[in-house]
Amino acid sequence: MAVVKEGKAKIQAFQGKITKDLPVFYNPEMERQRNLTICVLTAFQKQAAKKLDICDPLAGSGVRGIRIKKEVRGIGRVVLNDVTSDAVKLIKKNIKLNKVKAEVYKKDARILLFENRVGFDFIDIDPFGSPVKYLESSAFALRHNSLFAATATDTGALAGSFPKTCFRRYGIRVCRTDFYKELGLRALITSIQQSFAQYNCSFTPLLSFTNHYFRVFGFVQKNKGCVDRNLKQIGYVSYCAKCLFREIDISKVCPECKSKLEFIGPLWLGQMQDNGFVENVGKESEDRNFKFRSFEEEGVPLYYDLAKVCGKYKLKSEKIEKVVEKLKKSGFKASRTNLYPTGIKTDADIKNLVDILKT
Ligand SMILES: [Zn+2]
Repeated sequence: MAVVKEGKAKIQAFQGKITKDLPVFYNPEMERQRNLTICVLTAFQKQAAKKLDICDPLAGSGVRGIRIKKEVRGIGRVVLNDVTSDAVKLIKKNIKLNKVKAEVYKKDARILLFENRVGFDFIDIDPFGSPVKYLESSAFALRHNSLFAATATDTGALAGSFPKTCFRRYGIRVCRTDFYKELGLRALITSIQQSFAQYNCSFTPLLSFTNHYFRVFGFVQKNKGCVDRNLKQIGYVSYCAKCLFREIDISKVCPECKSKLEFIGPLWLGQMQDNGFVENVGKESEDRNFKFRSFEEEGVPLYYDLAKVCGKYKLKSEKIEKVVEKLKKSGFKASRTNLYPTGIKTDADIKNLVDILKT
């Protein structure tokens, strides 16, 4: 087993492809994701101005929890859990190696969270596959005014490639779209909100992130009013795969090209990020020399993929910044998006966008 250095932690773990023989896996590609988590947690701790008790119920090698304890100020209890004996042995070794104080358990993550009586200020659900089965127990174990993070690697289901799987797993109708990165994240957010709601627990997105996975951070309040306020922003979308028309409504026929519309939802249609919070995370990442690029986003849901629009309408491609400027000059809201390199967020409809691209 190799010892790897990451951030301020030294981690003993297997490296390479995951197999049955190597159940506890260190994935160096995830370093960037953990760097971001460190910055998010630092920004959140400063805002909360209290000691944070944290829990990583699917801890693997324990690297995330150890790094958080070493690199973020104001961390109280650290609870690391994994269901496999190999992982638990490794977590214990790594805690020793890094001289940090943490509690280690070997339980099913759901049982650990449901048995907890005092609650946590941060829970991170980072499984292989879908986080859906851990959401209820997380809602139960989260405190009022806490932070929750979840990762989903079943991107094909959430982003519209496997609609049946998505409906079965999340109860959400999806289809193939040009805004699939945003669709997947919104479906994940919706699923968290709906699972949390039964515990009078609200989830408001602070930062949404995508790579080969979807990851969201959100602010958690245990308050019925907050739950209802968020649920009001869950709705349905109609989408035309032929001409890229979309609207927040349930319609049957595309008003532009008369094709049959697909309907998507239920889907969170509120903000994907808190721009002020994302700016603070950006500052933290600068201070630590972590690469993190982010745009201040318009809250308009469902970006257009400029490349796809230009391809479909046989238009010459243009620099994305120029298109954003043109849209703004014509009186529309417009911004780039953190979710997709050629994505544009705008309140212009497809017809207006194409007209502007032609000028
Ligand atoms: Zn159409």
